[in-house]
Amino acid sequence: MKCDRCKNMVVYSRKYSGENLCSMCFSSSIVNKTTRTISKYNMIKSGDVVGVAVSGGKDSLSLLQVLKKISLEHNFTLKAITVDEGIPGYRDEALKIVEDFCKKIDVEHKVYPYSSLFGTTLEQTLEIRGNEKVSSCSICGILRRRAIDFGAIDLKVDVIATGHNLDDMLQTFIINLISGDTKKIGWMDPDTSENKTRKIKPFCEIYENEIVFYAFTNEIPFQSEECPHMNEGIRTEIRNFLNSLEKTHSGIKNNMYKSILKISTILKDSNNSEWRTCSKCGTECTGEICSVCNTLTSFRLN
Ligand code: SF4
Ligand code: ZN
Repeated sequence: MKCDRCKNMVVYSRKYSGENLCSMCFSSSIVNKTTRTISKYNMIKSGDVVGVAVSGGKDSLSLLQVLKKISLEHNFTLKAITVDEGIPGYRDEALKIVEDFCKKIDVEHKVYPYSSLFGTTLEQTLEIRGNEKVSSCSICGILRRRAIDFGAIDLKVDVIATGHNLDDMLQTFIINLISGDTKKIGWMDPDTSENKTRKIKPFCEIYENEIVFYAFTNEIPFQSEECPHMNEGIRTEIRNFLNSLEKTHSGIKNNMYKSILKISTILKDSNNSEWRTCSKCGTECTGEICSVCNTLTSFRLN
């Protein structure tokens, strides 16, 4: 079968749109879609230094490569921020992959370990957690966001980009929905132009399986090892549920994403939480103490 755009051999059939694409046209479609998302939400301004959070997985390395491709034309520069959670046997492979990849595409790269920032690794925190019902990923996520913020200040970036794709957005929406956290749904609005630190997700309109395919066709090396805590939370079940729906009703993820955009805009406007500074560490937050200090205090680590 021939590609719809150039008549080369088809390697990818986009079920929800009916397009059949060769490897080159598929890759350009991903780059173009990312560029359109960036300009639609004014994610990056000319002259910006963009800090990309690069874990070593397929999403973040593909994002770094796509942004590198368009950085010259759109006049921005890149720096890579990697967080080392301190998960034995898991992070080492990724750190090496990111280091080599950044060297290859000439991007400045720096690693921020939890142990230096918080005086504890994720594993040590989880040991202290004992039987308390807080998932590994919630603790890790709170610390990771702070570590990335720290890296952004340290590297003097204007905006932080993460590799979250459309599937991640849908899963997060459902998690927030079933936990009753409507404030966080408001925070999902991709337009972050009014926020103090802009956090952008340039892949937020691209299916996860397309990012995987992009990484393979562009020979982007990514970490094969999965985090040992990955399947502890509900996210994997939601991911499988959405994938099974998409299989029989193609395009359903795109429809759901459009609804999330509308809902998050409404909830964002009705969110009127006052920003204060954490009484322990001075970081901007909505309560008396921030989520990081809260987490560390509850495990008696600060
Ligand atoms: Fe952290 Fe969970 Fe990701 Fe593992 S899967 S790195 S614990 S957020
Ligand atoms: Zn704090």
